Amino acid sequence: MAKGRKPVEYCNFCGRGADEVMMLISGLEAQICDDCIEKAHEILQEQSGRAGSTSKSTRYGQPLRLIPPREIKAFLDQYVIGQDEAKKVLSVAVYNHYKRVQRLEASKGKATETDAVEIEKSNILLVGHTGTGKTLLAKTIARLLNVPFTIVDATVFTEAGYVGEDVESILSRLLQVCDYDVTAAERGIVYIDEIDKIARKQDNPSITRDVSGEGVQQALLKMLEGADVLVPPQGGRKHPEQKMVKVNTENILFICGGAFDGIEKIIARRVNTQVIGYAKARTEPIDRDNLLRYISAQDVKQFGLIPELVGRLPVIVHLDPLDADTLQKILTQPRNALLRQYKHLFAMEGIELEITPDAIEYIAEKAIEYKLGARGLRSLCEAILTDAMFDPEKEIRDTRAKKLVVDRQYAAEKVGHSGLDSLKAA
Ligand code: ADP
Repeated sequence: MAKGRKPVEYCNFCGRGADEVMMLISGLEAQICDDCIEKAHEILQEQSGRAGSTSKSTRYGQPLRLIPPREIKAFLDQYVIGQDEAKKVLSVAVYNHYKRVQRLEASKGKATETDAVEIEKSNILLVGHTGTGKTLLAKTIARLLNVPFTIVDATVFTEAGYVGEDVESILSRLLQVCDYDVTAAERGIVYIDEIDKIARKQDNPSITRDVSGEGVQQALLKMLEGADVLVPPQGGRKHPEQKMVKVNTENILFICGGAFDGIEKIIARRVNTQVIGYAKARTEPIDRDNLLRYISAQDVKQFGLIPELVGRLPVIVHLDPLDADTLQKILTQPRNALLRQYKHLFAMEGIELEITPDAIEYIAEKAIEYKLGARGLRSLCEAILTDAMFDPEKEIRDTRAKKLVVDRQYAAEKVGHSGLDSLKAA
């Protein structure tokens, strides 16, 4: 290199001058350019993914803060209406999970712990109709937690060797959430949605293989029981070269949820037989509108979950069906209630949105008619408000006050034009 040609400021890694790179960062006696920082970052990520590093300074590396069940429930109350029993059971389960994890951490380093009573984890099964808040409960809890948490859908899994995902990918996701901190993942919480969809098909005594049913349940069982599982860190089968990371699932809390459509018939049959068998035992009349509240492990087995898996889900909680009153509250009360969101959207346009109580009543009635639980509320609100969001001037009667009033009549008119009524047949 000719004398004097070397730039004064250059990257000590790639040698390029300050004028050839976007940014140079100086250290004590060296400098590094933006490109080299990015490359170094990639290498770091790759290495940690491969090695499944165990001691990273992720946010999960902080000491665990125990959140008492009352506090967990109070937090859930802000977002989830009703479902008190499910909230209570979940709060206690999560709290106990923390306690277990804390104890395990405290006993780390001690080779044996002979005197202590072992606290077993209690995986949970949430049973409730669609749109009653199962996923919402799981998501809301996730916000509060300081352990890694992920939500997966059981319907994407198939038995190993078939098209679809292997159940191990559940743990890939958990690893991704905590930036491949294996220690953190090993004390995480997983919500598996639509668990009922992998039930054994009752009318199929397995002449053909039940690829997405019993095989998947068996695979899940191992994970729920607690085992060392080899996990592809990036998930899926697209990266056959990736090095597997070993994750022990013994301390991972699994919460499963499902609608179990049709399980009421099984419950009714059992409850009726019991009534005949033990006529005197039952004093209060059976609540036929909410048979789910009598659900037991036996019913879930009969529905098609294998007994071993049911055995690993010792806490079974039902969610109540949502009545009109609850649906009205869902529309207005939670911190991020639907109607609050719409009011906010209109306010951003300088328009005040008023939804009268009889319109709210109407929306709740319709949602019940469509049997979509709270999920129908959003479609109904969209049907009612889309015109006004598209062309506010046309819809607003009181243009001077810049106020849109939605009453029962306005709502019914819009819903009538929307074609939503075709849902009624479902
Ligand atoms: P599920 O998982 O039971 O099918 P979700 O939790 O996905 O139902 O609920 C669908 C939507 O309905 C949620 O996004 C939420 O806005 C609303 N919702 C359902 N149940 C409740 C509830 N109990 N309180 C508040 N909102 C609810």
